[in-house]
Amino acid sequence: MSRRTLLAVVIVLVAVAAAAGGAVASKAAAPAVQRTAEIDGAGWAVPGQLLVRFRDGTSAASQAQANSAVNANVLQSFTIVPNLQLVSVPDGVGVQSAIDMYRLNPAVLYAQPNFIYHADVTDNTPNDPRYPEMWNLNNTGQGGGKVDADIDAPQAWNKVTGSREVVVGDLTTGVDYTHPDLKAHLKPNPMECSGVAGVDDDGNGYIDDCHGIDTINHDSDPMDDNGHDTHTAGTIGAVGDNGIGVVGVNWDVTIIACKSHDATGNGTSASIIECWQYMEIEKDHNGLDVVITNNSFGGCPEACGYDQATSDALKSNMKDGILASISAGNDGHDNDALPKYPVGYYLPNILSVAATDRNDGKASFSNWGLRTVELGAPGVSVLSTYKGNTYAFLSGTSMSAPHVAGAAALVAAAHPTWDWRKIKNVLLASTDPITALAGKTVTGGRLNVNNAVRCNNRPFFGVLRPLVAQAGQPIPVAALNIDCQNPSTTPLSVTINPGHTHLDLLDDGKGADLARKDGVFSANWAPNPCTPGTYTFNFSNGQSVQSNISC
Ligand code: CA
Ligand code: CA
Ligand code: CA
Repeated sequence: MSRRTLLAVVIVLVAVAAAAGGAVASKAAAPAVQRTAEIDGAGWAVPGQLLVRFRDGTSAASQAQANSAVNANVLQSFTIVPNLQLVSVPDGVGVQSAIDMYRLNPAVLYAQPNFIYHADVTDNTPNDPRYPEMWNLNNTGQGGGKVDADIDAPQAWNKVTGSREVVVGDLTTGVDYTHPDLKAHLKPNPMECSGVAGVDDDGNGYIDDCHGIDTINHDSDPMDDNGHDTHTAGTIGAVGDNGIGVVGVNWDVTIIACKSHDATGNGTSASIIECWQYMEIEKDHNGLDVVITNNSFGGCPEACGYDQATSDALKSNMKDGILASISAGNDGHDNDALPKYPVGYYLPNILSVAATDRNDGKASFSNWGLRTVELGAPGVSVLSTYKGNTYAFLSGTSMSAPHVAGAAALVAAAHPTWDWRKIKNVLLASTDPITALAGKTVTGGRLNVNNAVRCNNRPFFGVLRPLVAQAGQPIPVAALNIDCQNPSTTPLSVTINPGHTHLDLLDDGKGADLARKDGVFSANWAPNPCTPGTYTFNFSNGQSVQSNISC
């Protein structure tokens, strides 16, 4: 948890902190305060102040003598706890050494730091001046929006505000790594940032890749010449509580910029694959905790055909434990019927994201898909960082995907031991159901990052497949069956009618099941003969869905 920057808004509960000592008034010695050694510099206590309690019957003169021996001045006395004083010690006298001196005096019952207590009601409001415009993070009805049609970011920030240890790879047009509201988060390779120009200091195969790389122009300078990706990076993690501009879903995070797309916003299969490959290098060679990539791009629907190479690369990312948040697309159509790539690959490490607006409506441009688009996130008039030290409002599912990527990073900061499967599942189990996405996404919900970081007892069941059948070919039948981050432990089967076919759905990573214990339970179904029509899938947990199968 990163609370170092929050001291300006703490509430110091002096009397409450001291009251705990009342019960031990008759005991001979107070318990040692263990944390004082780290207190002076770490923000746990008010520098230069102590709470001192004298034994019953200690005269005022003896109290004054004890204080003067430490050069302490009395700031306050209390009635709720007898003989308790708040004192200050001179600059340069550490709290710990003052405590040690007081403890040598037999008239002192105890001496302790004046601890700092963070106030939950205020420390989740960052001081970034444009935060009030960010309906996506905290919707107060600004701009005619609906109150709470947001991802509940400030509530999540009461628990966790992010971590520099968590890394997000951000693809597309590069990031303006000189932007004052981003630059602190865009130095994934410190060896290169302070290394020798023209030398591959960290030995990862790329020279001078301080901020990331550029796979479309083939160099190590991912500067943004378009603006798009500087915007997505700001949503993931513009520096929070730094007094300027905006705030990201994460106040603290590390971003690797990978410029896969040129100034006009176009990338290629090869430039994208190299970015995903680079994320594996950074994870495996440089030891960075690359949790997820953000992929705010898409190809043309269907007519372009299936891109096996990018699918294979994303599958490799899955085996390396890296998630992919991918925009659902801005064609305003049903991705189940008109597959779009890369978002449409049937891989369990993909989170496909539709766009919602400030009224929790589905953005008119946003693609959807009951079986293929997992969830919604804000994507209309989203304020974030932009190239050239500016800020901009942009709309698109490109703006939605980085909310989910950022949320994954925030969950990873809260749960450092969780792998991609738990992070993905908790994001899907914890959405807010909204009418606009009912029947249009797997979850029927919009991202709620506060629910995600605090998830408890949220079972979720959603059917992922089948989509279409091919005559004579087995096809997957699969369902996401989870409770918060964990796969359900209850066995799952399905009966399909017409045909009365019974299938056990397994989460064992074999056959039709692409990953073990990821909460996706799968089996192969071979309708034979393949008869087009509406099939009913009755699951053993009582859920039932209908699917139109073409052959
Ligand atoms: Ca290098
Ligand atoms: Ca900021
Ligand atoms: Ca599975």
